[in-house]
Amino acid sequence: MQQYKKVEQTDIQFLKSVFDERHVFVGDEIHEDYFHDEMPEYGSFKPEVLVKATSASQIQQLMKYATQHKIPVTPRGAGTGLCGGCVATIGGILLSVEKLNKIIEIDSATMTAVIEPGVYLMDLIDEVAKEGFLYAPDPGEKSATVGGNVMTNAGGMRAVKYGVTRDYVKGIEMVLPTGELECFGGKIAKNSSGYSLKDLMIGSEGTLGICTKLYLKLLPLPKKMTSLLIPFNSISDCLNCVPIIMNRPYIPITCEFMEKEVILDAQEYLGKSFPDQKSAAYLLVSYGAESKSILEEIIDEIASLVLEHKALDVFISDTDDRQESIWTARGAFLEAIKSSTSTMDECDVVLPLDKMESFLEYVKELQDEYLVRIRSFGHAGDGNIHVYVCKDDMEDARWQEVVKETMSKMYEYAQKCQGQVSGEHGIGHAKTDFLKESLGESQIAIMKGIKNIFDPSMICNPQKVLK
Ligand SMILES: Cc1cc2nc3c(=O)[nH]c(=O)nc-3n(C[C@H](O)[C@H](O)[C@H](O)COP(=O)(O)OP(=O)(O)OC[C@H]3O[C@@H](n4cnc5c(N)ncnc54)[C@H](O)[C@@H]3O)c2cc1C
Repeated sequence: MQQYKKVEQTDIQFLKSVFDERHVFVGDEIHEDYFHDEMPEYGSFKPEVLVKATSASQIQQLMKYATQHKIPVTPRGAGTGLCGGCVATIGGILLSVEKLNKIIEIDSATMTAVIEPGVYLMDLIDEVAKEGFLYAPDPGEKSATVGGNVMTNAGGMRAVKYGVTRDYVKGIEMVLPTGELECFGGKIAKNSSGYSLKDLMIGSEGTLGICTKLYLKLLPLPKKMTSLLIPFNSISDCLNCVPIIMNRPYIPITCEFMEKEVILDAQEYLGKSFPDQKSAAYLLVSYGAESKSILEEIIDEIASLVLEHKALDVFISDTDDRQESIWTARGAFLEAIKSSTSTMDECDVVLPLDKMESFLEYVKELQDEYLVRIRSFGHAGDGNIHVYVCKDDMEDARWQEVVKETMSKMYEYAQKCQGQVSGEHGIGHAKTDFLKESLGESQIAIMKGIKNIFDPSMICNPQKVLK
């Protein structure tokens, strides 16, 4: 177990000499929102100090000092994470990048956006769209920072066609835990120059340094888009149709699955009705094309194909109202499930496409065995399933047993299916044991070796990813 220094008055004086005094918060000045992320279920942790950086140079000075004095530093974006990655589990300094939020440049010649890490995803998407560009990664929570997205390698609904956040990071500037500033990559479109340290940084959840600037790949905006809501009699029929859709030359932009119960939760949460809720399961598939006629051709072909494969109907969302009602409901699933229960735990496994059905059958068996309500939805096109075990009014001691056992069994089953612990939300401090179990000793030892090279004093987001 590492020993860390507690923050003292001299450290606070140092921080106030580096940061604007108004951006240094101590003790009760720290708002409790900073004690947790979007899963307060994983605990509430009060940092000793909160600082809000406005430049990379401040972060360099901070990290050098923290390494010298062995004070833990936890980086934080918008705090929308779902695995307790941005919380100060052992106190120390919480470093917020929320004020590092400039869009520095939208460079059309290299199709690159250069931004600071605290820019909100929704702002980036809007700003580049004004210049005719698409920033393709589309994680559900648009008020997350792009830095947080990069540090968790966030996925989202459009990953099935466009890939995940990693695929859109051309370069990343990082302050290393020892205070040096390094830029890995840049505006270049490709790179075969040695080990890809850029890729090592992406998804490192703030354990290898602090991201201070990003070079992001942009695409041209697709001209026409439409979504299809496809009902099925069962989740098996629904998931069996996914490879049929994916095996066509037109790759859908999104391919989401949802069960009736989750749609009903979302209707209740939003107080708005979903276009259809009679069937047991649905796929929500969308396509983009250069012209209306090409899009119609794709839709016609896909509609006939799915109807031959047990789809009950195909609802084309060709009006703004219908489009809005479907996607608003889809965007609210997580919040809707959360608000339907006293507390819950989440599992974000990713599986080979042909194992999703058997995994979800297993989840149903667990639901029956443990008499606990379990809800799921997810990114069917890339095998990423979000499963929520809900406490409802279960007695506390029983809940602790049930959640522990159901989670362990789900991760074990995912491993048997050659899946991985997290498809997009990351490991944080909540999923470290499951990662260790899943990757095994030798891969964990390699990761620890890497961590040690970048962060010899172990001050950068300790207890996250690796314990
Ligand atoms: C309703 C809802 C829907 C969601 N949908 C999706 C989804 O579809 N796909 C998906 O992938 N996720 C989703 N998420 C999870 C979450 O939004 C993402 O994990 C997001 O990437 C976190 O960004 P953030 O700015 O909130 O980061 P935080 O939660 O603040 O931090 C996340 C991690 O990144 C580190 N970090 C943040 N900024 C920096 C930095 N500048 N330098 C170094 N480390 C840093 C933190 O230490 C932490 O480990 C959803 C969450 C909610 C609440």
